Amino acid sequence: MEDCIFCKIVKGDIPCSKVYEDENVLSFLDISPANKGHTLVIPKKHYEKFNEMPEDEASTLMSAANKVSKAVEKAIEPEGYSILINNGKAAGQEVGHVHLHIMPKYEKDDFKLLWTHSNYEEGEMGKVLEKIKTFL
Ligand code: 5GP
Ligand code: ZN
Repeated sequence: MEDCIFCKIVKGDIPCSKVYEDENVLSFLDISPANKGHTLVIPKKHYEKFNEMPEDEASTLMSAANKVSKAVEKAIEPEGYSILINNGKAAGQEVGHVHLHIMPKYEKDDFKLLWTHSNYEEGEMGKVLEKIKTFL
């Protein structure tokens, strides 16, 4: 995609600190990391959101992320790490090309990937469940 910064990185038009590459996947260090070793894993093919990817391509992405996570964990030895894909502006997606974050985390971090808990009305959970299953 022409105006996509990550497509430009895939093409080599913009440099990156490459961690891993294969036929379908590229992984590189986040330029503005939450913590040192914060790594991105992206499909070379442009998709905006994870759900737009065919299942086999999503599996390939996740396999590569698994491989890279092992290396990041060994190299950085963080106290913990989060795996995150933001999809859509409301979820915090700033770059419109699917990217999986591998984010080293520490107890002392002043950012937490935590959420407040919502709840279902009586009978609502079952309806939501049935609606999701309709599409599987
Ligand atoms: P998002 O908020 O879309 O989930 O995350 C986008 C991430 O991409 C951010 O963490 C940001 O620092 C990173 N990023 C944006 N532009 C570039 C770039 O040109 N190179 C690299 N390596 N990372 C980038
Ligand atoms: Zn792209």
